[in-house]
Amino acid sequence: MRYDVAVLGGGPSGSVAAAELARAGLSTILIERNFENVKPCGGAIPLGLIEEFRIPSELVEKKLSRMKARSPKGRVIEMNMPNGYVGMVRREKFDRWLRTEAEKAGATVAEGLVNTITPSADGFVIKTLNDKIAPLKAARIIGADGANSKTADELHFPPNELKVIAMQQRFHYSPAIEKFSNIVEIWFDGEVSPDFYGWIFPKADHLAIGTGTEDHRHNIKALQRRFIEKIGITDKPYLDEAAKIPMKPRKSFTQEKAILVGDAAGLVTPANGEGIFFAMRSGKLGAQAMIEHLKNGAPLANYEKEFRRLYAPIFFGLEVLQAIYYKTDRLRESFVAICADDDVQQITFDSYLYKKMVPAPWPVQMKIFSKNIYHLIKGS
Ligand SMILES: Cc1cc2nc3c(=O)[nH]c(=O)nc-3n(C[C@H](O)[C@H](O)[C@H](O)COP(=O)(O)OP(=O)(O)OC[C@H]3O[C@@H](n4cnc5c(N)ncnc54)[C@H](O)[C@@H]3O)c2cc1C
Repeated sequence: MRYDVAVLGGGPSGSVAAAELARAGLSTILIERNFENVKPCGGAIPLGLIEEFRIPSELVEKKLSRMKARSPKGRVIEMNMPNGYVGMVRREKFDRWLRTEAEKAGATVAEGLVNTITPSADGFVIKTLNDKIAPLKAARIIGADGANSKTADELHFPPNELKVIAMQQRFHYSPAIEKFSNIVEIWFDGEVSPDFYGWIFPKADHLAIGTGTEDHRHNIKALQRRFIEKIGITDKPYLDEAAKIPMKPRKSFTQEKAILVGDAAGLVTPANGEGIFFAMRSGKLGAQAMIEHLKNGAPLANYEKEFRRLYAPIFFGLEVLQAIYYKTDRLRESFVAICADDDVQQITFDSYLYKKMVPAPWPVQMKIFSKNIYHLIKGS
């Protein structure tokens, strides 16, 4: 069988790409290693993504507009999003729905573990483990197979920096933890994570609690245990999950005949580890560039240029924030103090919800700048 495009990996990035390609009339196959895969993930997505991709409301289990940031000393800043919310999805349902959308659009969706990709005169030959899917040919490839991308290895893309190892546990609601069911909590606390943060995300019938670190001298299980103790939960989790998060784009994620999208390309923002939005946006942008490439001969490099044009400032800003404020507990204390400022909250939520960097008026920028300097001096 021969396809115009093979999309390898059926998570959010791959399914969005496959749907877009199929809608444009390109023969497309989406290959996912395991339809029952449950991606370890907090499942927090911004309103802008829900609107853009028309995520049905039954998939958005909670719409949360309240959030707490907690400092190492236990100072709690409660914030409200007046113009939006964080949506909570459950990845097993979310990913299945996205794959179904790709199938409805006309893509072939098949189960098999991609094992080898061999360049040929007119594209690639793809083989799956034990030939679960008969070997197939594709003129072009979109690698959407996550942080440990086989596509990237087979096609010799520059390495992914797998930085953060993250662990999450799920707890069924009980009277003891019911109080967490309507608010997002973020813990900036060196005992919970020496360089990232801990999260408490409420879902319809459970709490997802997790932490991450890029410092591999720390044992992630021990950090998670300490976090649960600090929250004061004695209930037993019904699921433990862990995975790596790549928090830096690869040096390049485009080749002449292949591109990488989502985690495979390293498109997760530093500081907050947000990846679903960038997976779906990169899947869409990558597919659009692929359509232009196959129909009009435009170079695939346009995809990477466009992604970087739109989002490099956000990646840069968050990298600086993480490098400055996530280093010590004193600096984390300062960071949480800054979160108390209404203007800081407004800018943070505006840019989170729609990923648009809207510059604040000058007086506000000056105020935030001086507060940052004050708290930085205090924190260090
Ligand atoms: C613990 C944790 C919590 C997180 N919380 C959040 C959060 O709350 N919000 C947020 O925005 N982001 C979060 N992220 C990041 C987010 O999960 C990822 O950025 C996102 O899933 C990337 O989507 P993707 O489609 O690129 O990759 P993935 O979701 O990893 O999908 C890749 C798919 O490829 C398949 N695959 C892999 N190898 C092969 C192969 N050889 N052949 C065929 N198929 C293959 C996999 O089975 C998988 O279905 C979290 C990550 C972790 C680890």
